[in-house]
Amino acid sequence: TVAIVWFRNDLRLRDHPALQAALKAGLAPLPVYIHAPHEEGDWVPGAASDAWRHRALAALDSDLRGRGSRLHVFAGDSLATLQAIAAATGATAVFWNRRYEPAIEARDTRIRRELRIQGLRAEGFNGSLLFEPWHLETKAGDPFRVFTPFWKAALSRWNPPRTQPAPSWLPGIEAIPGERALDDLALTPAPPEPRWDAPFWNHWTPGERGAAAALRTFVHDSLHDYSNGRDRPAESLTSRLSPHLHFGEIAPWRIVAELADAGPPDQRAAYVRELGWREFAHHVLHHFPHTPDANFNPRFDDFEWADPAPETLHAWQHGRTGVPLVDAGMRELWATGWMHNRVRMIVASYLTKHLRIHWRHGARWFWDTLVDADLANNTLGWQWVAGTGVDAAPYFRVFNPVLQGRRLDPGGEYIARWLPELQPLPPRARHAPWEAGTANCVVMGDYPRLPLISLADGRRKALEAIARLKRRQ
Ligand code: FAD
Repeated sequence: TVAIVWFRNDLRLRDHPALQAALKAGLAPLPVYIHAPHEEGDWVPGAASDAWRHRALAALDSDLRGRGSRLHVFAGDSLATLQAIAAATGATAVFWNRRYEPAIEARDTRIRRELRIQGLRAEGFNGSLLFEPWHLETKAGDPFRVFTPFWKAALSRWNPPRTQPAPSWLPGIEAIPGERALDDLALTPAPPEPRWDAPFWNHWTPGERGAAAALRTFVHDSLHDYSNGRDRPAESLTSRLSPHLHFGEIAPWRIVAELADAGPPDQRAAYVRELGWREFAHHVLHHFPHTPDANFNPRFDDFEWADPAPETLHAWQHGRTGVPLVDAGMRELWATGWMHNRVRMIVASYLTKHLRIHWRHGARWFWDTLVDADLANNTLGWQWVAGTGVDAAPYFRVFNPVLQGRRLDPGGEYIARWLPELQPLPPRARHAPWEAGTANCVVMGDYPRLPLISLADGRRKALEAIARLKRRQ
């Protein structure tokens, strides 16, 4: 008898609770993927996510084929598709690993109910978190709103799921009516020619094997200096596991287990704490499902965001603000689908404070361009920087991109890498070319000679706006 294993953001074979549940029940797992972007509510995956998923699904299919099975791909309404597959194969169960995006949680609840009414065994499992959102709460029984006590509670109840190997063999099941080919471009839209995503793949290998390799490289090369190194954008001292985690190509508890004997304990703890931020973000999204679209802190509903002029937003998006660290970050994002965490904070601070543009505009751009675009982490990140979120940085904390750049990228290497126009300048000047009397400097090509707005003015106006908000409330 068959159990449908409905793959979603859990594109791996190791540590896969839904797959294990099918095997434990003595059922033949039927690996299924259903393309249904219209079911994602207001947050249909962006172009960079689509490009990644296309490859991750191909990798999963290839890994399944290596074990005698394959991925059965469908498109359309998820419930109707699952019902049709069950009818065609006689499947008695549907298993999946949970997702926590509000639209998906609502959909899955409905699907579980409908399938059960039909007499099918329908069950979701935890495939992506160390703790389910309903397993950690404050002493008063509320969801945590502050990270430090959240993480303390998590560590005191530490009991992550156990790692499990991938099954070595899976039964093959014949083609099912309605199946689509993975290469069907309309199904998992691959970017049109010329492929803007082509340079991405110099940096990334989507799929479970790519995730395992990224973890090995990190443990071997970078873990020993993680807590300091993670703030230096010119060096690759972070794990770059975020897209792999988003698409479930590796389980967080697998990372924790593989780190157990690696590196200095303080570095290990610093890294696991970052996984803790990912947990926190997912718990917050589950408990406060309105936050992708609305301020967590309603006091900011009255804040005077500037009307974003299209050319200002365009300059920020395309790395042409004239502030080198901001522009370098935005170009790294465009070229690789990823941006260093510290630089994400700086470009977000620049948008929401110096330019006073609503964080939602930034969150949407990231959503479309990041290969690790993740509704929980992106929402938390943007609201944190903007000062509107849970446990957020206060709005009056305005990053100075020049000082940050000179401190964290003193050799100006990050700038030179992403803004080759500025490479001929001495390292210090790369962070503020306008200070170095470069107004007529030919080497800078068409890079803006002056910043879009003066950093001092932008900061002053942001602080005035927050002071006015406080006076009004
Ligand atoms: P590492 O330093 O190696 O960290 C390991 C893992 O911990 C990451 O892969 C990630 O899963 C998790 N993590 C680390 N920092 C954070 C954090 N601050 N919040 C939540 N999880 C974290 N991360 C995303 O995965 N998707 C997003 O869409 C996203 N948008 C962001 C937007 C803004 C404005 C900001 C400031 C941060 C955002 N982040 C997002 C968080 C963070 O920047 C990335 O997770 C990190 O840069 C990924 O690189 P890494 O895997 O090398 O990180």
